Amino acid sequence: MSQQGYVAAPPYSQAQPGMGGYQGGFGAGPAQPLYGHYGGPPQTFNGPPTGMMKAPVSSAVGMPPPAAPSQYNPNVQQNGAHPQRYPPPATPASYGQPSQSQYNNMAPAAPPPAQQLTNQMSTMNLGSYASGPMQSPPPPTNSVAQQPFQPAPPPAMGQPMMPPGPQSPHMSPHMSAPQSPQANMPMAGPPMAGPPMAAPPMGGPPMSGMGRPFPGPLPPGPGGFQQPGPGPAGPTGYPQQAGQFGGHMAGPQPGMPGMMGPQPGMMGPQPGSAGGLAGPPQKKLDPDSIPSTTQVIEDDQAKRGGQVYNTNIRGQVPPLVTTEFPIQDQGNASPRFIRCTTYSLPCTADLAKQCQVPLAAIIKPFASVPKNETPLYVVNHGETGPIRCNRCKAYMCPYMQFIDGGRRFQCGFCNCVNEVPAFYFQHLDHMGRRVDFYERPELSLGSYEFAATLDYCKNNKVQNPPAYLFMIDVSYNNVKSGLVKLICDELKTLLDNLPCEDGSESSAIKVGFVTYNKVLHFYNVKSALAQPQMMVVSDTAEMFVPLLDGFLVNYQDSRAVIYNLLDQIPDMFADSNESETVFVPVIQAGVEAFKAAECSGKLFIFHSSMPTAEAPGKLKNRDDKKLVNTDKEKTLFQPQKGVYEQLSKDCVAQGCCVDLFLFPSQYVDVATMADVPSHTGGSVYKYNNFQVETDGEHFLTDLRKDVQKSIGFDAIMRVRTSTGFRATEFFGAIHMNNTTDIEMAAVDCDKALTVEFKHDDTLSEETGALMQCALLYTTINGQRRLRIHNLSLNCSLQLSELYKSCETDSLINFFAKSACRAILNQPLKNVREILVNQTAHMLSCYRKNCATPSAASQLILPDAMKVFPVYMNSLMKSAPLVGSTELSTDDRAHQRLSIMAMGVEDTQLLLYPRLTPLHNLDVGSEALPAPVRCSEERLSESGMFLLENGQSMFLWLGLGSPPDIVQSLFNVPSLAHLQGNMSALPELDNPLSAKVRSIISGLMEKRPNSMKLQIVRQKDKPEMLFRQFLVEDKSLHGGASYMDFLCYVHREIRLLLT
Ligand SMILES: [Zn+2]
Repeated sequence: MSQQGYVAAPPYSQAQPGMGGYQGGFGAGPAQPLYGHYGGPPQTFNGPPTGMMKAPVSSAVGMPPPAAPSQYNPNVQQNGAHPQRYPPPATPASYGQPSQSQYNNMAPAAPPPAQQLTNQMSTMNLGSYASGPMQSPPPPTNSVAQQPFQPAPPPAMGQPMMPPGPQSPHMSPHMSAPQSPQANMPMAGPPMAGPPMAAPPMGGPPMSGMGRPFPGPLPPGPGGFQQPGPGPAGPTGYPQQAGQFGGHMAGPQPGMPGMMGPQPGMMGPQPGSAGGLAGPPQKKLDPDSIPSTTQVIEDDQAKRGGQVYNTNIRGQVPPLVTTEFPIQDQGNASPRFIRCTTYSLPCTADLAKQCQVPLAAIIKPFASVPKNETPLYVVNHGETGPIRCNRCKAYMCPYMQFIDGGRRFQCGFCNCVNEVPAFYFQHLDHMGRRVDFYERPELSLGSYEFAATLDYCKNNKVQNPPAYLFMIDVSYNNVKSGLVKLICDELKTLLDNLPCEDGSESSAIKVGFVTYNKVLHFYNVKSALAQPQMMVVSDTAEMFVPLLDGFLVNYQDSRAVIYNLLDQIPDMFADSNESETVFVPVIQAGVEAFKAAECSGKLFIFHSSMPTAEAPGKLKNRDDKKLVNTDKEKTLFQPQKGVYEQLSKDCVAQGCCVDLFLFPSQYVDVATMADVPSHTGGSVYKYNNFQVETDGEHFLTDLRKDVQKSIGFDAIMRVRTSTGFRATEFFGAIHMNNTTDIEMAAVDCDKALTVEFKHDDTLSEETGALMQCALLYTTINGQRRLRIHNLSLNCSLQLSELYKSCETDSLINFFAKSACRAILNQPLKNVREILVNQTAHMLSCYRKNCATPSAASQLILPDAMKVFPVYMNSLMKSAPLVGSTELSTDDRAHQRLSIMAMGVEDTQLLLYPRLTPLHNLDVGSEALPAPVRCSEERLSESGMFLLENGQSMFLWLGLGSPPDIVQSLFNVPSLAHLQGNMSALPELDNPLSAKVRSIISGLMEKRPNSMKLQIVRQKDKPEMLFRQFLVEDKSLHGGASYMDFLCYVHREIRLLLT
């Protein structure tokens, strides 16, 4: 198969009116005129011919190499320890150069070689679906009979596309389809050459997840995900039979479920129909012939890894999130802070609608910056505060154009012309640029901070430093399991490592302690005391904090008293039999404490059970597996309303972030308990059936990482855009009181929010599209700051530009979050169906408008999206979306909430785990072995593989693992001697052991969360757990294999192209 590059280009999110998240995009029922061409006569070819791609507009912010650091004027403080202004480039040669030409949009003027998965894909026999790899009940027979899907044998190579035999009546339309002018061009690949698809799927167990979604019921109404309901156009439906051929496709809009007929099974694989249509037995399709994620990652690393990425070019697509590369800020925010689903927006809403590619940015405002890159500068304009546009309030940035000899500036966002304040005046050089351009971060960089004035502070008062409040559930089980002692012991050392501002000796963060079961115990740990004092509040209905002085203290000052307290807590409750707990009052106590101390901060709550004690927020077990795969399944994800809802608001108003560490032994209603954390920028950690011996280190590692994270408090963010488009939907661990201000009680280095954009008007290719993300927050020292990230994108009238500038990892982040939100309000099968439809739509639009004409039987994918289907399939098989009774409701709810706050790297890894072979390790080499595809086929009996997805980690040992390896790693003669339930490798003194342990710890280090290592032997029962992460295979919980999914999508695309 040839996997050459592709061509692709532009648009932005499907800006259907009213579409949010999945709204309009899907639900917009009625056939929109915009989609009209889909149904049009086959000849319609409204896309631009390939190869006519417009050259990108030149960079708005291109700039010469920056000046030396010393030139920054005195009101610019460096925000960190790195003296140099820009990190030394890894590859000096490219330093300061305008761009790496190959990535420069200008480069590809010629039609890219189509990535034609011809050889094999073209031969994919859709008929093999018939056997119903898909689970779900077989559709009514009549629908089966009508299904025309039969495997069309692929045409012979080099021949013009012929409708394969009798079974392919529906193929003929494809042939004459859009690109008919070139229909007779030689086939890119020997379509049939490949073995016809075997039908691994056939005969397999039914899969869930797939069967349903496609055939699905009526799509949601106009509201899309938000508003389930029959789409207005619903009744039109797809005629089941002949309708699929010929021009009938006109009506239904791809991606618009509203149009789909209600007949179940209609689109889906037909379990029953298989036999007859499938034709002769087929050989298995070569799995190597379908696009490989690991290959894409490896190629990008080889091509762009290690090279300095300069951000001076508008609309350039950064290296993949999996690629390691240093970044030099030259006027646009680093991709560590902002990534986009595409870097070239379609100029018009119509184009956006046409392609249905979501237009979104994933913003991680506090992303960690590696040591070799410059931390953000802080600009301080004193009492004047930051300079802003008078009209739209955008902050001074590289997109402001100085005019009139420097006396005025024109806003790049709203075009308003503003006076330059006298103190800020500077002359312009012959290029029209201020002569202090390189001395001011806000003129030359994509990201920087402003010191905020009192106007930006709550109540116009100087802020207090934030506080960390540790709240420990001391009910019977926690004391008995040793958890309470573990936490208390850890805190003694952990508190020495509270984050502090660079340069300061000790942290300004105050600390306080609460223990609780049915009642709350507050502790006075004032430094003057010899012994801590406890105050008990048993009236949990009206929570208050019984002491102020001595409750929130400086750890260094009160260290002795705190030590004393931490030593005593486990003993104090050693004899307690209290097993009931409260929960809401615990959070309320935190909010009240911060209110009294006039500060923001974070609660660390260590909790085990469902709060059943009589108090606000008391919960009942409402878990019900019978709801899975019904329209009521969504209720399993919905939090209980009422007091929890109000509590989130109170927390956000006070800047009180909640981190929840859960240690459940059964259902605890995570959907509700995690509701407050997930609206306050908090994290939820969950350790099922926690045991100190096996899970202790895992938990402590999470706790340490969490406490030490870089973080901002009491944050409010706004995303401003240039005219023509705007942010309309927001996904994250956030709270919103209105439609524009994103509030977060705190935001740490791992939290990302995803913002979707829609058109208001036509965008200009010349000026491009600009966005500015401004985050107002309180530092750990109590300073109020504004963190600014700017990014400029291209705009194009050519869809090919959009597709070329897409980023699959960002797209899947968007889809993951929007789907995870959608399942709160819609049946899961609708959500899955929408995902598939949109996938097919995006790809068919590319095919129709951007690809070199070729046989309909060929699957052609945009180069930048060639592995999109594998991620999409994996998303539909993820715990929240899969609809399996095998998975615990709490685990599903937990993962759903985790995804909502994930950045691009996290969703990438979650949906395509890293599977690394360790049996051929070169212990002398620094390099990690190349990961392999996540499929059972890649495992070998004599092999050893490490799999991780950011949440779980497995070491899989083949039955035939060589004894010497087993000996080196485990110090036992054979696998049979291994103890069950191992969660760590013994520390043995040999190179292999050291190497493997260092690989494991290196991976743990890189991830936001710690992972518990699970060691599984091939064929052992726990291997089932491991197998669910082999995302290219059919899922144990229901869900198609990658191959099946790709075939399915391919068929959908062909239908759309008819
Ligand atoms: Zn403005």
